[in-house]
Amino acid sequence: MIELKDLSQGFRNPELMQSLSQRIHQLSAQLSESVKIMEVCGGHTHTIMKYGLNQLLPRNIEFIHGPGCPVCIMPKERIDHAIELAMLPEVILVTLGDMIRVPGSKGTLAQCRAKGGDVRPVYDPLDALEIAKQNPDRKVVFFAIGFETTTPMTAVLLELAEKQNVANLYFHINHVLVPPAVDAVMADGAAKVTAFIGPSHVSAITGSDIYQPIVDCYHTPVVVSGFEPVDVMQSILMIVEQKVQGIAKLEVQYTRVVTAKGNQAAQQKVASMFTLRPHFRWRGLGDIPLSSLVLSEQYRHRDAEIVFADALSDQAIEDHKACQCADILRGLAKPNQCRVFGRGCTPTKPMGSCMVSSEGACNAYYRYAGLAFDLDLTKEATTGKASINRAKTEKEITA
Ligand code: SF4
Repeated sequence: MIELKDLSQGFRNPELMQSLSQRIHQLSAQLSESVKIMEVCGGHTHTIMKYGLNQLLPRNIEFIHGPGCPVCIMPKERIDHAIELAMLPEVILVTLGDMIRVPGSKGTLAQCRAKGGDVRPVYDPLDALEIAKQNPDRKVVFFAIGFETTTPMTAVLLELAEKQNVANLYFHINHVLVPPAVDAVMADGAAKVTAFIGPSHVSAITGSDIYQPIVDCYHTPVVVSGFEPVDVMQSILMIVEQKVQGIAKLEVQYTRVVTAKGNQAAQQKVASMFTLRPHFRWRGLGDIPLSSLVLSEQYRHRDAEIVFADALSDQAIEDHKACQCADILRGLAKPNQCRVFGRGCTPTKPMGSCMVSSEGACNAYYRYAGLAFDLDLTKEATTGKASINRAKTEKEITA
């Protein structure tokens, strides 16, 4: 009998990976220019680094890491907001995992908690509802983050709070959208991206059609891909096939879940509760119009940015000068090119969001050091510029 684990192993099958690699090598030999593929999502970055996919590709295929990590792209002033809220005696601040270790200009939420702020990390947004019910004399703020994948969960939380009359639950909304970020990277032009791998979990909700304007505007192939190594290798082959034929189109590799139109029930729920925010400042990418969501008029009584406006600062704050997260998120640098990578900045003592987040590019490079270093990093490691001790890496990761 076939078991679930056998099915997932098929997506990591070494023979299949080898044959995909050979086909990519054969086809890419016909290309006169190199292909620079931006994997938009940090989940793909981790697959690439964990399974050493960059080592299975010819030299004329290059990965460029993108801005698709919701923790990484959060600018410092939004983290400051979370801290300012958590320090209010009447507030309990609820947020998801990695957020509590990302530094703002006033430290991290973890440090805020040590100073007495009531910060509660959760895995499930619906836990915020229970916390609000258990603390009727407090104001519970859900610090909501994520791309199109997680917005429906926040919508469900809001819907339940309304239906169950849980009046003390508020929302600080930081839900951002993938297509405007991809468009910003292409409009900037500096990263010289010539193809995209799109995240399948986003398109499972939105549908793959969200990328058609990018394809039409920039004549750049986009392939919506799953996250297993065979998925990513197959997506790269699909891109190389397009390049060889001299065409640019939108394709879906992850057909086992993604459709052109996506989950329309989830889209309708989100559309009924959120509207586009005129401007949102992304870490690294700056201000991108209409690139994030805000609660619609009907739910403004739960919008923490309105309800607690007097307690919140209103100033854009730049990253530490030594941190190159901005360049990494814009596809202009690789983590090992940051001079504090692996020295002043490690997962246990992160300086920037790209090292904190479990989807961050710096975290991926550090975590899989010694397994999947790209050639440049190996070269730097041997010259001592970016020396990484594998034993130390493992010790820090498991700490
Ligand atoms: S290594 Fe650290 S400081 Fe450098 S870019 Fe990455 S997160 Fe920022």
